[in-house]
Amino acid sequence: MSKVSKKSSSTSKKKKKSSRSQYTKKKTASNSGIPNFCVLPEVPERTFEADVSPFRASLIRFMAKKWVNGTKLRYYFFRNGTMGGAQNQINMVKQGFDVWMQLGIGISFEEVDDIGEAEIRVGFLQGDGAWSYVGRDVVDIPGQQERTMNFGWDLTADPRGVDTPVHEIGHTLGFPHEHQNPFAGIVWDEAAVYNYFGSPPNNWSQQQTFYNVLRKLNAGEVEGTDWDPDSVMHYAFPPNLIVEPEEYRNGLRPALGLSARDIEQVKLFYPEINDALYPELKPLQSVTLQLQPAEQRDYLIKPPETRDYTIQTFGQSDTVMVLFEDQDGDHRYVDGDDDSGMNFNSQITERLYKGRRYILRIRLYSSYSTGETAVMLW
Ligand SMILES: [Zn+2]
Repeated sequence: MSKVSKKSSSTSKKKKKSSRSQYTKKKTASNSGIPNFCVLPEVPERTFEADVSPFRASLIRFMAKKWVNGTKLRYYFFRNGTMGGAQNQINMVKQGFDVWMQLGIGISFEEVDDIGEAEIRVGFLQGDGAWSYVGRDVVDIPGQQERTMNFGWDLTADPRGVDTPVHEIGHTLGFPHEHQNPFAGIVWDEAAVYNYFGSPPNNWSQQQTFYNVLRKLNAGEVEGTDWDPDSVMHYAFPPNLIVEPEEYRNGLRPALGLSARDIEQVKLFYPEINDALYPELKPLQSVTLQLQPAEQRDYLIKPPETRDYTIQTFGQSDTVMVLFEDQDGDHRYVDGDDDSGMNFNSQITERLYKGRRYILRIRLYSSYSTGETAVMLW
């Protein structure tokens, strides 16, 4: 069980792990009219071998933190001690999960009482700010006692209401800060930005300010070329920090709630799916995937006998492949592999049991050469 929930749908044994020594978190501070700011834990940017082209790398970055669609994420609340949250705080965060769920997306959330089963572990350490790891980075957080998300101020007194939990859960879904969108075209008064976030009540280090505000994301990490200043993933900014676009010199306040583009984005990566419609993947039948970048195929596997099986993709492509067992509609992670940026294919070998049902999900990052990608079970 612990292996199952810990690794969830990230998996890759070969993927570079993030170095924890580089995490920085500092106190954000109490309310002073301007809302508190989310401060993300710093995770090193992924690097690629020299034979991975910039285009291929950008397609990998586009998907790398996103979950395989159809993943069920289980969340746990700390309720006692310094990490623990009062029931009214916990209820606000639950509402945040509901806001995303009610959109009808392919990701589902479920609260669990056993921390060992939870991919998302929510703490309420006061003074530690609001933050979450981004997307599949949460499964790289070692141990089963560490938080993957925190709320460090009274959410019931926050004028943004449920938007703060919605924002942090948006990070867990794999979405970055929208004000770091390279297409925003924001020109900052950098000295003023460092001064503002470095002063009370925030007291951020220069590196924290750079990482969370000034740093521009890679173009490949965002979808399309639009900027959405009303995104729930966008900070509010006081006057005199933004030089261009001129209209935001007097400050920028995103509208409350999810924007139309937030909804479009989450449905792009996590469209609603129907488990009943998957074709069956039978042993020794090679199936051509015909996938576009970021597209996913899902297959049902009904093992004809109990034994070890191998599932592998073929072709020059980058894929993430995750196997779940379908226990009466409750999907439990079995195994997964991710060959992105590598010159070999995703492969899973597991013992599968006759009489049980399994769901295989395969998402394409890129096909870096001509030719098709296929999958086979044997
Ligand atoms: Zn944030």
